[in-house]
Amino acid sequence: MSALDFRARLAALAEQDLLRTRAVLDAPCGPHAEVDGQRLLSFAGNDYLGLAAHPEVVEALREGAARWGVGAGASHLVSGHQRPHEELEQAFARFTGLPRALFFSTGYMANLAVLPALAGRGDTVIADRLNHASLVDAALLSRATVRRVPHVDLTAFERALASADGRKVVVVDGVFSMDGDLAPLPGLLALCERHDALLVVDDAHGFGVLGAQGRGVLSHFGLASPRIVYVGTLGKAAGVAGAFVAGDADAIEWLMQTGRSYRYTTAAPPALACALQASLRLIEVGDALRARLAGHRAQLAAAAATLRWPLLPSDTAIQPVVVGGNADALALSAALRRRGLWVPAIRPPTVPAGSARLRISLSAAHTGTDLDALCSALQEASDD
Ligand SMILES: *Cc1c(COP(=O)(O)O)cnc(C)c1O
Repeated sequence: MSALDFRARLAALAEQDLLRTRAVLDAPCGPHAEVDGQRLLSFAGNDYLGLAAHPEVVEALREGAARWGVGAGASHLVSGHQRPHEELEQAFARFTGLPRALFFSTGYMANLAVLPALAGRGDTVIADRLNHASLVDAALLSRATVRRVPHVDLTAFERALASADGRKVVVVDGVFSMDGDLAPLPGLLALCERHDALLVVDDAHGFGVLGAQGRGVLSHFGLASPRIVYVGTLGKAAGVAGAFVAGDADAIEWLMQTGRSYRYTTAAPPALACALQASLRLIEVGDALRARLAGHRAQLAAAAATLRWPLLPSDTAIQPVVVGGNADALALSAALRRRGLWVPAIRPPTVPAGSARLRISLSAAHTGTDLDALCSALQEASDD
C-alpha cells in the first residue's frame, strides 16, 4: 500500500463498474440536453418544474446582479447578509407557514449545520438507512451516537428512541431520493412527541412538488409542530441553488448562532436570492406544472406494467426502475442512450448493493410526446 496508489484504487473501482464519468453539457438544464454534439431527451435532472431556465427566473438573476453585484463578500453574520437574503428568508417562512427560515448556500451545507447544531456528544441521532449522504455525513459530524434503522420501519424507530441517550433527533428524507417514496412523517412525529425528540425532515425532493401550492411534504401530510426542523433545498424543483431551514423561531436562532457551515462560509450571491424569490412565486402559482407532472407519472406507470423490471411506486417526480446488478443497470442506461434518451443508472454506494437502477426524473418541462418516447424506448429495451 502506498500513499500514491491512486491508479490501483481507481482500477479497483472500475473493476466493480463503479467508475463515474461526467458528461459535459452544451445546453441549459432542460428536457433537451446536448452532450458531445448529440441531442438527448433527458430524464436525468431534478428540475422537476422546469424552472432552471425559466425566463422570469433568469431575468430576476440578471436584474439582481445589476442591482446587487455578484459576491456577498462575507458570511451572513459578518457583513454578507443583504436585503434579498433577508426578504427571501421571510418569503420561505411565509410560504411554508413556519415561524422562521434561514437561507443556506446548498442543501449539503444546510444539513451539515443542522445535525451538529441539534445534537452533540452524548446525544442520539436516529436516521433512516436510506437517508441522503449529506445527512449521513452530518450525523457523523455531530459526534452524537448514530443509530441507522431499517427504511421507514416505525417499530425500529420506536425501539431506537426508547433506548436513546441524551437529546434525541430523528432525521429522514421527506422523499427518499433514490426510491421516490415518502417518510411516514405522521407516525414519526407521534413517536417524537412520545419520546421528546426533534424531527428533522430533508425535503429536497418534496419542496415545490408536494402539498398545497408545492409547500412540501409537511403540507402534504398536514403536519405542524415546533419539534419539526424542515430543510428545503433549492437546486431541484426551485431550479436555482441553495437551501433553507425552517421551524420554531428559537430553534432557527440557535441554528444561526451555532451552525458552523452557516457561520463559516461566504453568503450566497444576493442575485441568487433574487432569482429564488422569482422561483418561489412561480412555485406558488405552479399548480398547472404540478398537474402536468402528475399526468406524466400516470403515463409512465401505465406503460411500466409490461416491462420486465419493476417501477417502484412513487407519487413524486422520482421514478426508479430497479434492475439489480451494476452492469445490467449500466447496459439498460446505454441501450436507452443509443435510442437518444438520457436516463442515468444509479449504483452502490448511492443505493444498496444488488439494487442498481435507472432513476427516471420527470419534469413539468417534459411533453406528452417526450413521455411517449421514454415509454416506447423502455419497452423496446425490455423486449430485447
Ligand atoms: C440533493 C439533495 C441534498 C443536497 O442538496 P444540494 O442543494 O444539492 O446540496 C440534500 N438532501 C437530499 C435528500 C438531496 O436529494
